[in-house]
Parts: sequence; C-alpha cells; structure tokens
Amino acid sequence: MTIAQKLSFDVQLSDHARTAAEREQVLANPAFGQFFTDHMISIDYTEGQGWHDARLMPYGPLSLDPATSVFHYAQELFEGLKAYRQSGDSIVTFRPYANAARFNRSAARMAMPELPEDTFVEALELLVRTDREWVPTTEGHSLYLRPFMIATQPALGVNYPSRTYKFMVIASPSASYFTGGLKPVSVWLSTEYTRAAPGGTGFAKCGGNYAAAFVAQRQAVEQGCDQVVWLDAHEHRYVEEMGGMNLFFVYGDKLVTPALTGTLLPGITRDSILELAADLGLETEERLVSVDEWQEGCASGELTEVFACGTAAVVTPVGTVKGADRSWTVGDGTSGPVTMRVREELVGIQYGARPDAHHWVHKIA
Ligand SMILES: *Cc1c(COP(=O)(O)O)cnc(C)c1O
Repeated sequence: MTIAQKLSFDVQLSDHARTAAEREQVLANPAFGQFFTDHMISIDYTEGQGWHDARLMPYGPLSLDPATSVFHYAQELFEGLKAYRQSGDSIVTFRPYANAARFNRSAARMAMPELPEDTFVEALELLVRTDREWVPTTEGHSLYLRPFMIATQPALGVNYPSRTYKFMVIASPSASYFTGGLKPVSVWLSTEYTRAAPGGTGFAKCGGNYAAAFVAQRQAVEQGCDQVVWLDAHEHRYVEEMGGMNLFFVYGDKLVTPALTGTLLPGITRDSILELAADLGLETEERLVSVDEWQEGCASGELTEVFACGTAAVVTPVGTVKGADRSWTVGDGTSGPVTMRVREELVGIQYGARPDAHHWVHKIA
C-alpha cells in the first residue's frame, strides 16, 4: 500500500563543497560521468509506509549491508536527462515528465514502487538549483542528471521483491558523450548476443540490460567498431538499437525507425524526433527494419543516412556497418544533411536557440 503524501525535502548543505576554482577546473574538461556535483538527492521507501525521508545531502558514498538485495538480484533502474544553460542564464531540462513516466513504467516491470511524477521532477529541480554553478556555460556542454532506484532490503530470499528501496539523483557535468566531436561511428552487428527478448526487460531502463550488454560491446571493439548494434532475439534479422541509443534510417525525406516491439527502449529523443520530423518536412514510419534492407538500401542508394539518438550523445551519424559475414558503408561514410538538420533542431530547442513549439523545455532556475 502506498500512502499518498506530499513529501518535503530536508536540506543538508555540504560543508566541504568544492571551491569555485576547483569547480572551474572540472568544468574546463568534464568528460562524461566522471565528476559529480556537491550534492545528491535521496528518498527512501518502505512497504506499508510509502516514500519518506526525502533529502538533499552532500554527495558521498553509501553504506549498505553486503546482503542488500540490489547486489544479488539487480533490482535496479535508472533514468538519464540533462540540464542546459540557456542564454540569459536560465537553466532548463528537456521533457522531465517523460522521464518520470518512463521511470514508473520501468518500476512496474521490475516489481518496484512508483514514485509520484511531481516528486521525481521536484527532486531534479532541487538538486539543479542547489548545484546550479555546476551547469556548464560552454556551448554543447550540460549537467547530466542520473535518477536511479535500488532495492535496499538486506535479505537473500528470492521469493518476494525487496520491501525497501532508495531513490537517488546524482549530477555530472558533461561535454559530448562520444569524444572526437560528430565523427560517424562504426557499428558491429551482434549475432552472437541478444540484448532483450520478448517478455523480458528490454523496454525498462534497468542496469541488468547493460550488464548483459558489456560483452557484446567489447566484442564490437575487438572487431574494430565503436558500437554494437542489437538485433531481434528470435532471428537476429531485425535491427533494434545501437548500444544505448535508438536508430533512424533516412530514405530521402522519410525517417524510418524500428517499431517499439517491447524489446526496444522507448527513447525520449526518438519520440521527440518523430514529432519534430513534421516541422522539418520529413515523413516518419515506425516498422521492422531488417539487416538485409539496411545493406540493400545502402547498395541501391535509396537509404541515404543512418543515425543513432539518445540523451547523452543527442544525434550521432552511423558511417560503417560490419557483421560476421559482411560489411558496408552508409552513403559516403560521412554525416549527412538530414542527420545534421535533425541534430541542429533538437539541440537548438534544448539550448534555447530555436522556438520550443512542443513545450518540451522545462525551466528549473
Ligand atoms: C536510455 C536509452 C536510450 C535512449 O533514450 P533517451 O530517452 O533518448 O535518452 C536508448 N536505448 C537504451 C538501451 C537506453 O538505455
């Protein structure tokens, strides 16, 4: 039973916050996900009591019993979104309620409690306002926000999900996700491993999906590629995703993206691009896309561009494709005009350079 209640956050400011000079040093070269701000959010959940002990506190390690169930059974899920500094110094996020809704869909699949969407967004706002100096001013940089939830009951029984949970938010200043700018990536078609199967957790943003993916990503790198491309579990015939990003196939002025079959993660960037397409005079289609179609489309020239999309790297062109028994180039292997146009539009809305016709930008500070 969850008790409806309005949570208020207890605020405990850090007494060892980094100095302005220390912060500037980090912000000068933030990499991705390596440095964190001075504070974090924590909210606890107990079955029967609901969410309680909401607080903003100094960033720091957790102390957990070794029997804590997340360590053993991976009952965990997360989200990823960014805070952007716009001109005039306001700070915004992009569609945070979409992340809150997806977080709860993931929670339902993982037998974890839902967090009220308003509390999710309030937690982000409180952290970003407190650590607002950590939102980079450099163009293209942002503050990456990582909400997550773990099962905290110290018990090894497997017949019942944890009765206690912890929701947290941490924040990390970030440059672009892939180093080396907008260089097209090379991809490896994984036919040996599968990311997600029907009835599994593919649509949920849970850590376990990533744990199962590392070996395939490592194989992609051994094959000389940047990223792994996941195919359907049943036939290894249809394209699903690229690493932690969704894929788009450009046929002239039509964008085709793999349909959400339940094994794909429903990206908010993917969803936004599907909506933006009309503004850019592009048609869209969600359907199955096979590896054969990808290769033949590139050979005939009908398929002109392929790009991947996600919060961390926004829009990234795919240049070359390699599989166990074939390899080919997309277009001339460089990033194409539709890819660039879509990227520019999305980034423009996020940083305030373009009008926000869809009301996606959420002002925080
Ligand atoms: C998070 C994620 C995406 C992209 O989702 P966005 O909401 O666009 O950031 C795509 N695929 C996987 C597997 C993911 O975990």
